[in-house]
Amino acid sequence: MSTRPAKFDVVVVGGGPAGSAAAIRAARRGLSACIIEQDQHPRFHIGESFLPRQTTLLRELGLLDRVERLPHVPKFGASFAMGDDINTTDFWFSPGPRGEDAAAISIERCHFDRCLLDAAREEGVAVFEQTRVERIERLDESGVTLDTPSGSFHGRSLIDASGQSTLTGRHLGTRRTLSDLCRVAYFQHFDGVHRRDGKVGGHPIIVMCDEGWFWMIPLNETRTSIGLVMRHDIAKSTGVPADRMLAWGIERSPFVRARVAGSASSASNHVCADFSYTCAPYAGPGYFLVGDAATFIDPIFSTGVCMGMMSGVEAADAVADILRSRSVAPTRRAQYERYVHSASSMFFGLVRKYYQHGFREMFLNGTGPLEIHRAALSVLAGHIFPSPTFGQRWRLGLFAALLHVHEKRRLVPARQRFSLLNTEPRTSEHVFDIDTRERPDALAVPR
Ligand SMILES: Cc1cc2nc3c(=O)[nH]c(=O)nc-3n(C[C@H](O)[C@H](O)[C@H](O)COP(=O)(O)OP(=O)(O)OC[C@H]3O[C@@H](n4cnc5c(N)ncnc54)[C@H](O)[C@@H]3O)c2cc1C
Repeated sequence: MSTRPAKFDVVVVGGGPAGSAAAIRAARRGLSACIIEQDQHPRFHIGESFLPRQTTLLRELGLLDRVERLPHVPKFGASFAMGDDINTTDFWFSPGPRGEDAAAISIERCHFDRCLLDAAREEGVAVFEQTRVERIERLDESGVTLDTPSGSFHGRSLIDASGQSTLTGRHLGTRRTLSDLCRVAYFQHFDGVHRRDGKVGGHPIIVMCDEGWFWMIPLNETRTSIGLVMRHDIAKSTGVPADRMLAWGIERSPFVRARVAGSASSASNHVCADFSYTCAPYAGPGYFLVGDAATFIDPIFSTGVCMGMMSGVEAADAVADILRSRSVAPTRRAQYERYVHSASSMFFGLVRKYYQHGFREMFLNGTGPLEIHRAALSVLAGHIFPSPTFGQRWRLGLFAALLHVHEKRRLVPARQRFSLLNTEPRTSEHVFDIDTRERPDALAVPR
């Protein structure tokens, strides 16, 4: 454990990607910073497929080389299919409007998160692992006091990167669940899932069904992350135990079943429920909320880690400016609020459309007039910081208008709906015999 001064300029709660990015930037801006993390890294975390904008950020932070030395799979696009399709519709990323990268990676988070936390340490950030913040004792313009089992932490400012725990949101009573996006996710790692050859083999595959969607994300040469996201009420109506729901879904999707044939996984899956919420306002006297501690967007488009790191860096810059001159606090908070709001509302807009069958038909059609698909893909690559361009905005507006027309007068060929509930299960020819959560090599993380 690091030695602790009486007070830090900035106390960061949470050693995930948002917290590490914030602390690294704060240290580089000359602030004394600490990270308080309840777990001991490396630890399992879901959220393994990244966006091209994050590649650009890692490059800007000087961290790309060390991240690329970790086991990972390059990601040049994404593929989509209906649950009973044989083939996928493939999309490829392009460079962003400001010259941002056109490729990303998928990676096990135990490797990635530890790498970032180590980088923060090397910047002089004091890292306190296995230290849980139990309570916010004081939070106001003059600073923050946090209670932990190993004593109180004092800071001139708080950056809350506590993820879905939403420490400050719960303390202030601002956490609001978005009931229309109320979903539950079931996921686990598989070894030996079938992949296509070449660059397209690194694409994450999104498999759609009426009840939700599956993801299949290649993580390294042998391991693939597979998950199923469903509406809560539908999942409950099946009566299947939560830790067996992924197997239930795979047995009903010919597309996923074909790809897992011959692979192996543990018998039970992880579960994550009740995501999609906001804790606005994202900044206030003495604090900034970053990453999932600010807002959580349905993970369909893999936006979480990119959003987390981008907001972490932005918040650290705001804190540095405020600590230099308190008079800029209202302006910097308002700027930060706009920054998070403009990106997250763009993502929320696409996520809400994604759950409409008409949007899936138009999206799977693969092309559209006036490059509207390119605009959607550019948003899905994360090329919307510090704010979406005019071209992205009007093209997405046009996409929404065309979707409206499509629902009344078909503009692209119809796609058959696919329902897990209405499909006869077939036993998948894969072996449930290993426990990927406990495997020793999951902890043998290269530095
Ligand atoms: C099913 C699912 C699939 C997803 N898929 C993707 C994906 O493919 N791509 C993607 O980019 N994102 C994905 N996400 C989202 C992604 O997981 C998150 O957006 C991302 O992890 C946010 O990073 P963070 O640093 O804000 O929070 P986290 O990574 O959750 O880190 C928060 C840290 O705070 C610590 N902490 C919490 N409370 C306390 C406390 N009181 N005291 C001390 N420490 C504390 C936690 O231990 C944790 O380490 C997915 C999410 C879900 C639920």
